[in-house]
Amino acid sequence: GLTERLQNAMKKIRGKGKVTDADLRETMREIRLALLEADVNFDVVKNFVKTVRDRASGTKVLEGLNPAQQIVKIVDEELTKTMGEEAVPLNKSDKIPTIIMMSGLQGAGKTTTVGKLANKLKTDEKARPLMIAADIYRPAAIDQLVQVGEQIDVPVFEMGTDVNPVEIVRKGLEKAAEDHNDYVFIDTAGRLQIDEQLMQELSDIKELAHPDEILLVIDAMTGQNAVATAEGFDKKLDITGVVLTKLDGDTRGGAALSIRAATGKPIKFVGQGEKMADLDVFHPDRMASRILGMGDMLSLIEKTQKKFDDKQAQELTEKMRENTFDFNDFLDQMTQIQSMGPMEDLIKMIPGMANNPALKNVQMDPKDIEHTKAVVYSMTTAERERPEILNPSRRRRIAAGSGRPIHEVNRMIKQFGEMKKMMQQASNGNMSGMEGLMGG
Ligand code: GDP
Ligand code: MG
Repeated sequence: GLTERLQNAMKKIRGKGKVTDADLRETMREIRLALLEADVNFDVVKNFVKTVRDRASGTKVLEGLNPAQQIVKIVDEELTKTMGEEAVPLNKSDKIPTIIMMSGLQGAGKTTTVGKLANKLKTDEKARPLMIAADIYRPAAIDQLVQVGEQIDVPVFEMGTDVNPVEIVRKGLEKAAEDHNDYVFIDTAGRLQIDEQLMQELSDIKELAHPDEILLVIDAMTGQNAVATAEGFDKKLDITGVVLTKLDGDTRGGAALSIRAATGKPIKFVGQGEKMADLDVFHPDRMASRILGMGDMLSLIEKTQKKFDDKQAQELTEKMRENTFDFNDFLDQMTQIQSMGPMEDLIKMIPGMANNPALKNVQMDPKDIEHTKAVVYSMTTAERERPEILNPSRRRRIAAGSGRPIHEVNRMIKQFGEMKKMMQQASNGNMSGMEGLMGG
């Protein structure tokens, strides 16, 4: 994939103290090929490579201390810029309802995305959306939206397949006004290719509904075609944002890079699966790190945040501040970490870790956590609450009880002490950082 190719491109200069002009040329050539092979639009690639080359040779990279790292950084920054720098939220209307119209080719994921978005707004904002079924060309399309509606408990407005879509939307908006829905989604029809008749219908719906948001849904797996599709829809409808779907699949990742550059319109969300929960806000910087394969620290933090329930985090912060964090809390933390999934997966999300050869020597056996827990289980309540009473004879007893060697017990108690000290420092000093990590 793209990530692999880019990493290969960087490999030649990685570890070099000095990057020559020839090295840089070769690296840029590899990056160019990697992007083209990933179906990134030709013009986008041309501009991208030029910008990176200018920046790389313009800065002191060639005599720099760690030139390879600087180039990686430049590539990362330019990838981010190409995709739009900042996450762009949904447009919202001053008065209800906010009207969101979908557009896109058949099978792109419009209906699924309507469900995902309605579901997200319901969860995040306790919103009360209405979904209008305006794809009348396939009876199954209406059934599909109705089923999605049942699944996420959101009402669907439909008038069957015999009424003109514009009329359906008009009636649907009346219904939303009656019911005081705060969001209205208009699920529209698609075709296999852009055609005039469909575009006219979408324009008519737009003119009637004055949507606050016209989202173009694009299948990330369509590669080069994604750009032509985006340009076609944008020219006719003046879209306000893009949803890139099927990023979970075996996509070559090029669409994310091309679309913003080709249309100037932001990618707002990405679909990463068929389920209703598989929708994420699009963050250009995170996508860039992912494409580069430098790990995604932010998603690690988010993952951590989700797992810590607010109250627990607050209690923990409290304990850290008062320095009363004990082995019982430690045990809780261990269990939480275990519930986040395999250690390897988590560690790989830390930048620089994914392909770090040193990692091969690091043991991340889930057994390690089990052993640590076994040691804590072998402690008495008093020992767990007051680790300072753990004298040598108590430690020997714990070693015997847990079946772990004494040096392991000692090491673990020492590590616990260091961790506790770090936590207290963090809670006194940089509180916000630690609380952020704990989701407090
Ligand atoms: P529409 O014709 O544009 O309304 O497309 P649909 O919403 O019916 O989606 C077409 C197919 O793509 C369905 O089988 C969806 O389950 C699937 N799909 C939609 N979004 C995603 C996604 O993000 N990932 C994956 N893997 N499949 C998706
Ligand atoms: Mg559909």
